[in-house]
Amino acid sequence: MQGLMQEHPLLISSILRHAARHHQGARIASVDANGRMTRSSYPEVAARAAQLAHGLHRLGVRRTERVATLAWNTLPHLELYYAVSGSGAVLHTVNPRLFPEQVAFILNDAQDVALFVDASLLPVLEKVADRLPASLRAVVVLGEGHPEAAPPALSVPVLSYDQLIAGESTGYDWPLLDERSASALCYTSGTTGEPKGVLYSHRSTVLHAMAAIQPDVFALRALDTVMPVVPMFHVNAWGLPYSAPMAGSGLVLPGPKLDPVSLHSLFEAEGVTFSAGVPTIWTALLQWLEAEPHRRFAHPPRLVVGGTALPVAVTEAFLKEYGVSILHAWGMTEISPLGSTNSRKAENAHWSQEEFLHYSRKQGRPHFGVDYRVLDDAGQPIAHDDRAFGEMQVQGHWVASGYFNRAHDHAFTPDGWMRTGDVVTVDPLGCIEIVDRAKDVIKSGGEWISSITLENLALRHPDVALAAVIPVHHPKWDERPLLLVVPKPGCTPDAQDILRIYDGQVAKWWVPDAVEFVESLPLTATGKLWKAEMKKQWRGYSLPG
Ligand code: ADP
Repeated sequence: MQGLMQEHPLLISSILRHAARHHQGARIASVDANGRMTRSSYPEVAARAAQLAHGLHRLGVRRTERVATLAWNTLPHLELYYAVSGSGAVLHTVNPRLFPEQVAFILNDAQDVALFVDASLLPVLEKVADRLPASLRAVVVLGEGHPEAAPPALSVPVLSYDQLIAGESTGYDWPLLDERSASALCYTSGTTGEPKGVLYSHRSTVLHAMAAIQPDVFALRALDTVMPVVPMFHVNAWGLPYSAPMAGSGLVLPGPKLDPVSLHSLFEAEGVTFSAGVPTIWTALLQWLEAEPHRRFAHPPRLVVGGTALPVAVTEAFLKEYGVSILHAWGMTEISPLGSTNSRKAENAHWSQEEFLHYSRKQGRPHFGVDYRVLDDAGQPIAHDDRAFGEMQVQGHWVASGYFNRAHDHAFTPDGWMRTGDVVTVDPLGCIEIVDRAKDVIKSGGEWISSITLENLALRHPDVALAAVIPVHHPKWDERPLLLVVPKPGCTPDAQDILRIYDGQVAKWWVPDAVEFVESLPLTATGKLWKAEMKKQWRGYSLPG
């Protein structure tokens, strides 16, 4: 017997319809590349998204065709999120920080038919102007650029966003699509090969947004004002452009200026209660706050961090000095991105603040809708004893089942799991801790050494600004760890003194064989340590002794 309940497809258009009907008072603020602030509301976003959907039709964009964006976290980008997916086309957000070769590769791989580019990012377009896909029919410029940044000469028509939507109707009949149809496309940064496209569906996006709102995830309420600092071109700003309107929260879209001064002033002036970003953003904000002792938050916001591990010292300082709590999340482009968060549960409800702060270094536990398994080299599940480690695989409603345009990929197992490439331990509470990326662990004499553990310990040294541990060849042990250190400005630390940090903290054979001081370390387009490039740079390095 079947249940007697209504069935409605889970569609992205339904999110904006809800917000525009039931959260008309929620405020939206957006800062453009010139620092100009625009204010809006969900009904206005809905009206402009409708105009834009008509504009897309005029450009000849049809269902399932890809529409690329090269844009910051701004209001027009939010309107694109809803107009493109809502009308049945596929929103393809492009990371402007990728190398031009990668931008050209993914525009061609996606076969985009239209490209919306922020005026401030025209130089990025210029660099790929001769490699645009033959499928491209129009380029639309968002916002006003610098006078010298004229659109490059292109073989397709170039028009402005305002020209495109001017005079169009503010009503649009959002189609009743199949909820499994593609809604958005986002490429992994491809630091270890060609970027791979992850193709989200309306259903996966709506379910992910509903999960993100939950109390142990982002705990979003209609009373919140949400500022996505994580870019809308990086895994859909962790889904916030969907989950915030779903919850009825206000939105602050900070544009490209994400320095501590700009962010702090937005937190204060706009009453931001919730924000999400990568560790470099929050670390820079903390350093600035510490240098400006009179600065505080009138209403301390809740922050989420993810993407790479954040040193516990930063979480602790934010909480103790500023009353700001930081939730640690783990995720990937392939998981929309939310996989886990580290929030308390029955077993650790009674822990002291101190105990839980130390625990918050871990990446957390999954929420309903995603699950993991961790298998050792022999394909057997590891013990949840906080010691054994293996590669984590995931499964769930918002986990990719394959990559766009690739028939087969090793990441997907025959029995329906996705290999994350993350090596983790699991503790008796089921909480995961990332030990390393599978490709970055150091394999010394048949045993594994976690580069992440060694980096985090190095960062405890007061003179160390940035640390990376990479494997270098060793005739006897195959690989040994080399520690690369960027000293803090004005500091000239001693290598032996840094290595003393490891005494009693890790097994003796884990201690790096050498320390090299460098001015900077290569970072990926998403701000992570670019290990592949470092390994290339230090190939052939001979260890002392
Ligand atoms: P990109 O390679 O484009 O940066 P992702 O954002 O998809 O792509 O990166 C996902 C990877 O980032 C994860 O597999 C994991 O290695 C790392 N990661 C994500 N969150 C965390 C975290 N909280 N702590 C440590 N590593 C993390």
